[in-house]
Amino acid sequence: MKSDELFERAKLVSPGGVHSPVRSFASVGGNPVFFKSAMGAHLTDVDGKEYIDYCQSFGPLLFGHRHPEIAEVVRETIETAWSFGACEPYSLALAEFIVSKIPFIEKIRFVNSGTEAVMSALRVARAATGRSKILKFDGCYHGHLDALLVKAGSGLAGLSSSDSAGIGEELIQNTLVLPLDDDESLIQLFEREGKNISVVAIEPLPANYGLLPQRIEFLKNIATLAKKYGTLLLFDEVISGFRMGFQGMAGLLGIEPDIVCYGKIIGGGFPVGAYAGKAIFMDLVAPQGKVYQAGTLSANPLGMRAGLATLSKAWKEDPYPLIAESTKFLTSNLTSIINEKSDFEWESVNEGSLFWLKQKTNEQIRKVSSIPKGHKENFAKLFHALLKEGIYLAPSGYEVGFLSTAHTKEILSETLDKTRTAMKKL
Ligand code: PMP
Repeated sequence: MKSDELFERAKLVSPGGVHSPVRSFASVGGNPVFFKSAMGAHLTDVDGKEYIDYCQSFGPLLFGHRHPEIAEVVRETIETAWSFGACEPYSLALAEFIVSKIPFIEKIRFVNSGTEAVMSALRVARAATGRSKILKFDGCYHGHLDALLVKAGSGLAGLSSSDSAGIGEELIQNTLVLPLDDDESLIQLFEREGKNISVVAIEPLPANYGLLPQRIEFLKNIATLAKKYGTLLLFDEVISGFRMGFQGMAGLLGIEPDIVCYGKIIGGGFPVGAYAGKAIFMDLVAPQGKVYQAGTLSANPLGMRAGLATLSKAWKEDPYPLIAESTKFLTSNLTSIINEKSDFEWESVNEGSLFWLKQKTNEQIRKVSSIPKGHKENFAKLFHALLKEGIYLAPSGYEVGFLSTAHTKEILSETLDKTRTAMKKL
């Protein structure tokens, strides 16, 4: 197979043969598939085999791969400019659009990734409060910045040590970590340390260690304590932003963060991240304020225009109820087909267009320590059985699945047929 050949070559020139760890099959075993093209809900690999894609580039593609309306805007942009390194109207249009639609955002700064967005937001929070400490939650992933690679998820999920090498104690000495869903520990920590904590960062819908929906009371508790102690509340909506409704989890929960971080959908599939919030905080950023943050390719016209095309389509069409319905249809049928042949019962945790397949548990799992033992191995078997039949899930049991509007009823039914075949062969 061509993928195997390419992987052997890739390993010679790139670490692990990949440019981001979760693309490798380290968590599920075997060699990764190399893809050459994508359209809508489908991927085509270098051997010409087609797959129905439930990874969707890990989330940016709300309307599927290369949606014709977005593709048209991208084509137009290519004919105009690739990069200015100067002021242009496209980022202004996207900024104005977002500011006009999301009440707690007064100003926004575009960067090139979710990691950059969170890294910059922390700097703003430290400047705004004059404090050094940062609070995060076990299992939440906020990108690969030093200070937050502590008890993170994503490519670090399921590893015996969650910390990355190369991050000295001095870089994480100000990072405090709490378990999710634990009000008592939260209150105690704020009583002890609240006055020293610059920012509490959370994925309001943790989606990097499986899908761990939080109780609204817990999230409100965080917001209340943050306010009481003068700590900034940072919602990392890199996955949930513009996916769990246009206003993300903040909108759904009715909780206004001081700073919000975006990535993925905001760039319509191009490398864009953003941090945003109230002007009193955002005005601390250079050149207006003293928090330095810059970027050669920031607010790249391709990302800005693909982002605006995606967001304005989402605003106009409100695709969210439909994709949530598709997700429910898919996962309820998928799990019943799998369960006919499985030694144990599977279920899917769904939130809107996100899903997480796992062993059925009596209670809703809300924190890392409650994830059933053997999950990684069980998922790996299922992953490979489905992959063989042409269904591509994210290659880790700790990553969530993504649906798009391109996943039509026919494609979902085809997925179920393929799953039936996969289970027969298992
Ligand atoms: N925050 C969250 C919640 C994420 O899911 C991710 C990436 N999956 C990031 C931050 C980092 O984003 P990026 O990979 O664009 O740096």
